[in-house]
Amino acid sequence: MGLKPESDDTMAGNPVIGLLGGGQLGRMLCEAANPLGIDIAILDDKNAPAKQAHNTHRHVTGSFKDPLKIRDLAARSDYLSVEIEHVDTEVLEDIEENGVEVELADGSTVTHRPPIHPSWKTIRLIQDKYLQKEHFRASEKEIPIADQIAVESGDATLDSFKEAAEKFGFPFMLKARKGSYDGRGNFKIASEDDFEPAIQALGKLPLYAEKWATFVKELAVMVIRTEDDEGNLRNCVAYPAVETVHEDSVCTKVYMPPRKIAESICEEARELACAVVSTLWGRGVFAVEMFVLEDDSLVVNEVAPRPHNSGHYTIEAVPYMSQFKAQIHAVLDLAIPDKLTPRVPSSIMLNILGGATPNSHHQLARLARTTYSDDMDVYLHLYGKESKPGRKIGHITLTGFASVEELEELAKPFIKLVDEMRE
Ligand code: ATP
Ligand code: MG
Ligand code: MG
Repeated sequence: MGLKPESDDTMAGNPVIGLLGGGQLGRMLCEAANPLGIDIAILDDKNAPAKQAHNTHRHVTGSFKDPLKIRDLAARSDYLSVEIEHVDTEVLEDIEENGVEVELADGSTVTHRPPIHPSWKTIRLIQDKYLQKEHFRASEKEIPIADQIAVESGDATLDSFKEAAEKFGFPFMLKARKGSYDGRGNFKIASEDDFEPAIQALGKLPLYAEKWATFVKELAVMVIRTEDDEGNLRNCVAYPAVETVHEDSVCTKVYMPPRKIAESICEEARELACAVVSTLWGRGVFAVEMFVLEDDSLVVNEVAPRPHNSGHYTIEAVPYMSQFKAQIHAVLDLAIPDKLTPRVPSSIMLNILGGATPNSHHQLARLARTTYSDDMDVYLHLYGKESKPGRKIGHITLTGFASVEELEELAKPFIKLVDEMRE
């Protein structure tokens, strides 16, 4: 039983979106929602980054995996959405089917059923990276994915490893099916010598093995998906393809447009991303991560059903419809542009990862605060998170007025510092 969303607010066009998770993505969602007069109720720890950026009496303190807390959030919200896919989908399914009981001021109760976007079906599918890709393979859209096999648990694990080695050769990639991020569930198996360490590292989790992709580049495309309240797909609109650079499986840099690649491949990537997202359910923004192989063909790596690190550049480069504003517009079924054209010709996003000491990132933040140029704009975003080695604690977006190569030249002092922090 919880606090009912104020229907008067809803009538006046100020709906409440309940968000599962309040990290940096939730924080930037709040930053987009504040000027629109839309309230975001966050379910997360008391001092989560998103709660620092938006004050409302509707926040819920607790875990986005706790069914009771999710129900409490649902009771306070007109819509539910997520900033992270690792949430309890059983309770989301139940809320969609049966709603939650809400007490009115006169003591009577009503059943309240906030729409959930994207659908719990999408979130549940995406949670399991193996099933996610099997779904894409089985769809009618001819979506290319890396070959994969499920890994058996317990004593049969070694047999599965041998089967993977036979099928894919070395190296191959071992991945946790669920719960991983920033490559934390991945293990590169270069030879049989890695079997035992891999079992030590990941053996307790459900796993799958994936063919190694010898890619020349990684691309990502954000897509806005809209559908009507009956679940009929209305539209998928893609942002430009961007180049993502991963180091030790963590995204460190994002280039818009991608460097040294034909425009036709970027267009193909956008079309593929729309095809991928059209097979899912619900409204929202989605990231489609892809590999470009040596023969220029594309392979889908994975999908995120929410704003994504590769889309941070849209805050400044597509300011009329950043990925965060797009999530709000999609969830609430507000207008979405037919085309998402950047307002600058180039941008580079650099992640600020926690360094060896709690203060390692200060030099980078200082450089961002003190750099002014006629040819490049600098935007610093710190997330209000405690610094830990390798943790994403902020990012810097640089926008340019000429080519991405020229912007890269101007960005050299930033790139140098980012690289040094990782050494
Ligand atoms: P995210 O933070 O994007 O959710 P994740 O933990 O789900 O990361 P993946 O996206 O599966 O991990 O992999 C992280 C990175 O590892 C990829 O972006 C890519 O650089 C590398 N990688 C993943 N799969 C393969 C593969 N099959 N072959 C080669 N490299 C791979
Ligand atoms: Mg992932
Ligand atoms: Mg990934």
